[in-house]
Amino acid sequence: MDITKFTLIETIRGLKEKQFSQEELKNAYLSRINTLNPKLNIFLVIKKNNTGIPAGIKDVILTKGIKTTAGSKILSNYIPPYNATAVEKLLNQGISIIGKTNCDEFAMGGSGENSAYQPTKNPWDLTKVTGGSSSGSAACVAADLAVFALGSDTGGSIRQPSSLCGVIGLKPTYGRVSRYGLIAMASSLDQIGPITKSVEDAALVLEWISGPDLYDSNCPNEKFTMQPSRLKAGIKGLKIGIPKEYFGKGLDSKVKEVVERAIKKLEELGGKIVEVSLPNSKYALAAYYIIVSSEVSSNMARFDGIRFGSNRGNFGAEVKRRIMLGTFALSAGFWDEYYSKAAKVRTLIKQDFEKAFEKADVIVGPVSPTTAWDLGDKVGDPLKMYLADIYTISANLAGIPGLSVPCGFSEGLPVGLQILGKEWNEGIVLKVGYAYEQATKRQLKKPDLKF
Ligand code: GLN
Repeated sequence: MDITKFTLIETIRGLKEKQFSQEELKNAYLSRINTLNPKLNIFLVIKKNNTGIPAGIKDVILTKGIKTTAGSKILSNYIPPYNATAVEKLLNQGISIIGKTNCDEFAMGGSGENSAYQPTKNPWDLTKVTGGSSSGSAACVAADLAVFALGSDTGGSIRQPSSLCGVIGLKPTYGRVSRYGLIAMASSLDQIGPITKSVEDAALVLEWISGPDLYDSNCPNEKFTMQPSRLKAGIKGLKIGIPKEYFGKGLDSKVKEVVERAIKKLEELGGKIVEVSLPNSKYALAAYYIIVSSEVSSNMARFDGIRFGSNRGNFGAEVKRRIMLGTFALSAGFWDEYYSKAAKVRTLIKQDFEKAFEKADVIVGPVSPTTAWDLGDKVGDPLKMYLADIYTISANLAGIPGLSVPCGFSEGLPVGLQILGKEWNEGIVLKVGYAYEQATKRQLKKPDLKF
């Protein structure tokens, strides 16, 4: 029995039924981390003295007394004096932090290569990127170096690396999980969420970390709950919307095939396929990068060497690029043409979804236009890198939830299926993900890490 292969639900059960002890659980994970972390570069900090169920926490999420760098040299010595609300809630459930996971600097990136501490390698193929920015969080779940992980998603950073690493990733509705203690990238888009080995695990972790928080006024009063019977109710008669804009030029033909097969499966399971349209999708990328950069330029101002951080020369190239772009987009004379226009496009995108959800219960499509690409392939070309975000950013602009579920392979690399829902409708999204997962058992396939 290899207990590092267990899902969260199985781990909880195993501990309760005394199949193994806390000590054995910890040692099993630590010994795996010992051999694999030097090769994969997943954890920036490893915590050896822990009892509880081991989870990886993305390094943009504050952990009291544990170094938190946000993947940046500017915070290389930062030890937070408090826990993020989401972390505090996990600790209350008997979860322990086994390590802080590598990520793109301040969560800006889509491959993990913007980390100041070297990129994380994809467990399915060490020459490939993991996706980003939650690179270490997705890889630690794929490689069984943690039972589950927390990531953050501003434009796809939970879903995209989950897709490229073959694990489950959930971006909750904006406001579902408190942002208190999440180092801000773009405050109107950021959201913390779970990366897990099963859909049921994602529902459980969301239950734990969601709910009201006096420190984040975007969080509503009721918390997310999901009865197992509702999760497992099946999808008969559910309307599955397919946006034609997500299947056009730019989508790799093999990825397309895998995703279309997954949609067929949903139909076999009783889903009703309906075509929907998201006509303003073509403006999403431009609007997103203006809004993100504008908010980044404001949020990065606190790292001035006085309040936080050291020398501003310690910022990496991507962070500097966004500070400059954002400062420009917000400056007098240009604000109207850039930021204000992008904000209007954002409203149109939100309205597209509202219309589409009149016809469909969920919207389904690819997460990423390609599978994991070669390390180094896009680092010299930011626009090429930004294009990889094409299917994920709209959910952040609209504030809606999105799930990535493994749905097959193309040339040995995982492909993810994206399931989007209405605001506060994580329940339906998870139900569809669960039905698909149970019917296909994709999660049983693991990368071969015997090297
Ligand atoms: N790849 C996107 C970007 O670079 C998303 C980042 C994120 O979600 N944190 O902005």
